[in-house]
Amino acid sequence: MTDKLAHEETLDPANWSEVRSMGHRMMDDVMNDLSSIRSRPVWKRIPDAAKASLNIPVPREPQSLESVYDEFRKNVEPYALGNRHPSFWGWVIGSGTPTGVLGDMLASAMNTNASGFEQSSAYVEAQVINWFKSLMGFPEEATGLLVSSGSAGNLTSLTVARDAMLPDALNDGLFSLGKRACVYASDEVHNSVDKAVGVLGLGRSSLRRIATKDDFTIDVDALRAAIEKDKREGAIPICVVGTAGTVATGAIDDLSSLADICQENGLWYHVDGAFGAIAALSDELRPRLKGIERADSLAFDLHKWLYVNFDAGCVLVRRPDAQLHSFSIPASYLSTLHGGIATGPLRYGEMGVDLSRGFRALKAWLSFKTYGFDKYARLVDQNVAQAQFLAELVEAHDNLELVAPVPLNVVCFRYVAKNLSDSALDELNERILVRLQEDGLAVPSGVRIRGKLALRVANVNHRSRREDFAALVENTVRLGQEMTKKP
Ligand SMILES: *Cc1c(COP(=O)(O)O)cnc(C)c1O
Repeated sequence: MTDKLAHEETLDPANWSEVRSMGHRMMDDVMNDLSSIRSRPVWKRIPDAAKASLNIPVPREPQSLESVYDEFRKNVEPYALGNRHPSFWGWVIGSGTPTGVLGDMLASAMNTNASGFEQSSAYVEAQVINWFKSLMGFPEEATGLLVSSGSAGNLTSLTVARDAMLPDALNDGLFSLGKRACVYASDEVHNSVDKAVGVLGLGRSSLRRIATKDDFTIDVDALRAAIEKDKREGAIPICVVGTAGTVATGAIDDLSSLADICQENGLWYHVDGAFGAIAALSDELRPRLKGIERADSLAFDLHKWLYVNFDAGCVLVRRPDAQLHSFSIPASYLSTLHGGIATGPLRYGEMGVDLSRGFRALKAWLSFKTYGFDKYARLVDQNVAQAQFLAELVEAHDNLELVAPVPLNVVCFRYVAKNLSDSALDELNERILVRLQEDGLAVPSGVRIRGKLALRVANVNHRSRREDFAALVENTVRLGQEMTKKP
């Protein structure tokens, strides 16, 4: 046994100056890449050789950091998703910032487990959460947690909702109810809510999808009727999910009416504000979110419209004891002491599913303090104004049409040509979309709006300029005309 200790090893370098100089080189490359991102294609297909380099047997022997880094430069970095680029507007994927890169590096260097206890990370996280309580109109005593995503935020919130509304279910399981417990949302709700009700054992069919109006917001009369019907039939309504910024078109539900309905019926009120809740930063846009401050729980992302580097989302819960009720379970190996590290009021490991957690709060704290929230408010306004600009270009062109209203930062449009059937137009627009991406020109994503295939631009990009949207319109029209030209 002592033989094994004759030459003790470590993963630290024998020569720190080597790893230090590699670090400097990497940081130079990172900043060069970010500052020149505009001059490169948005997206490139991954060559077979690069894929093959990522399908090798288990590496047993060491290799120099420099040579592995060379492989990264050759086979990994160039084939990114593309969301750092000013012409990327697919799905809803934030662009990140150089400050966020540094924040991630510093967090990784501290390498803390941000589960709570008496350490700085807990107070940094509390600081960030307190800023959001203030920005979103939540009371001081509300609790909150940084999570990995909007999906995790919705799951965390709906867990808390389930346990607050069905006190016996937490210990005895849902079967002890003998009845169906129902969650209500519009038919435009994000599928992470379907995922959550499935994971929570409520059953996906217990998510009642309420019809939307022409503006893609929930029909509140239909919602009232659905709740009444379920009550009459012996089901238990527990929660309404309002959406602040639907994923397809950016529609904002009537959040005040939903709050009223929840109040009247004694239901938990959750708002999925993945990107749309961030409009609360803007004086001009905030009135449209009226009612969000009445939510029992709110989930939103930092990695979408706050441009924080992946990944980061946030949950706020109004009732101070509700989050701990769902997630805190006494265990001697986690118990607090009268002094030392295991003290402190902040118990983030007991407010969600993760016990061990990275220091997500640091990149957010570093970014928010460095840029200041007024700048974020201006960028949010800018993204909305750019969406309006794009919508105007679309409306002004005979070969383009808007497929949905543009209430926020999402534009859904398509190429149209005379004498083409709806299905031919769907096919044509898909071909245009694929060519835009494959030619590395721009990345909208696809969506079906009331059955029509559309190009969808979700603008959560602080690098985009007006000219980028003008170029998107030009390229869409050019491709559409080429593809419909008679031979
Ligand atoms: C993106 C989005 C989600 C999911 O958030 P992730 O961070 O991607 O998990 C949920 N709801 C809405 C409205 C979204 O736009």
